[in-house]
Amino acid sequence: MNFERAQRLQKLPPYLFKEIDRLRDEVRSQGVDIIDLGVGDPDQPTPGHIIESLAKAAADPATHKYPAYSGMDRFRKSVAAWYGRRFGVDLDALSQVITLIGSKEGIAHFPLAFVNPGDKVLVPSPAYPVYSASTYMADGEPVEMPLLKENNFLPDLEAIDPALAQEAKALVINYPNNPTAAVADLDFYAKVVEFAKANEIIVVSDAAYTEMGFDGYQAPSFLQAPGALEVGIEFHSLSKTYNMTGWRLGMAAGNAELVGGLGQVKSQVDSGAFDAVQEAGIIALEADQSCVDEMRQMYTGRRDVLVAGLKDLGLEVEPPQATFYVWCACPPGIKSADFTMKLLSEAGVVSTPGNGFGDAGEGYVRFALTVDQERMAEAVERLAKLGL
Ligand SMILES: *Cc1c(COP(=O)(O)O)cnc(C)c1O
Repeated sequence: MNFERAQRLQKLPPYLFKEIDRLRDEVRSQGVDIIDLGVGDPDQPTPGHIIESLAKAAADPATHKYPAYSGMDRFRKSVAAWYGRRFGVDLDALSQVITLIGSKEGIAHFPLAFVNPGDKVLVPSPAYPVYSASTYMADGEPVEMPLLKENNFLPDLEAIDPALAQEAKALVINYPNNPTAAVADLDFYAKVVEFAKANEIIVVSDAAYTEMGFDGYQAPSFLQAPGALEVGIEFHSLSKTYNMTGWRLGMAAGNAELVGGLGQVKSQVDSGAFDAVQEAGIIALEADQSCVDEMRQMYTGRRDVLVAGLKDLGLEVEPPQATFYVWCACPPGIKSADFTMKLLSEAGVVSTPGNGFGDAGEGYVRFALTVDQERMAEAVERLAKLGL
């Protein structure tokens, strides 16, 4: 039998990191000691108090039943309270917050609630691949907004064709940004609200990295912008803040209609996040946050080693204010894929080619700060020997 996959899947490129993993494993099998700065997955374990609360909750039979579709009321209240403390955003937990099985799940399902076949969705480029993939899965059409260095890697809203803006159904933003590590301020968010209102566009904000700011930088939430709750939904996650990528716990907050639409889709396709994981999520959000401070300190040390090393090599790079990525220009005349291959085959250092995140990422590579400072220093030493 020949099982031809649906056209919507044929439109999707292979998932970026699968191909990089394959190349990494190939080089490793030749006996090379690999330093992996590829995938953005924290190398540190989840803090102990969060693990303990999961263990305790998992032993309670009350958590063994199907969870509530939209999430545990107490978890959603905890999220609303966190948004209040952290951003000064006032949310109604039960209508404006929903639990997700990781934010990727929510971002992937959201277009099914609001995008009709052929609808256009404005997505950044370079970007987390899920924004365009999920648009395709809803039979919509992603339209790329290039994030350029001269605009501080923010989309240039004025450069968007007015007819396209009128037509578009949604616009996706992601700050602090993966992969460019750029940040956005409230002025930018206010302009996004204005643009969304003028064009009747839904704003989808992916805020996974707001807690990973360095040198005292605290990223704002899109929902802080006046009027944001009329036009937008924000996706957030415990994955990066608390080293919980494997736990699959995230949340969406914002406009009640948008949250409700997502909830309607989810009620048909999944049955919610394990209650014990949500219990642990409450502890993560409500306990003393010194583990988050330590995490920021740790990445700051690694960042400083890597950025100084790359600068010494004459590469064009800025120390990021947030995220755990360093976005580095390739040496002049070298393409992203070739530079990534050179780093891997000649230095055993895994990076991610910028063009893998979209055409506008060409000319860059992304390094993740996911090895300790010593290993990072070793990576820098190896790069220095390449004579770039
Ligand atoms: C890591 C990441 C997320 C978080 O994904 P989860 O599904 O919550 O683990 C969301 N958006 C971006 C841009 C990311 O890099």
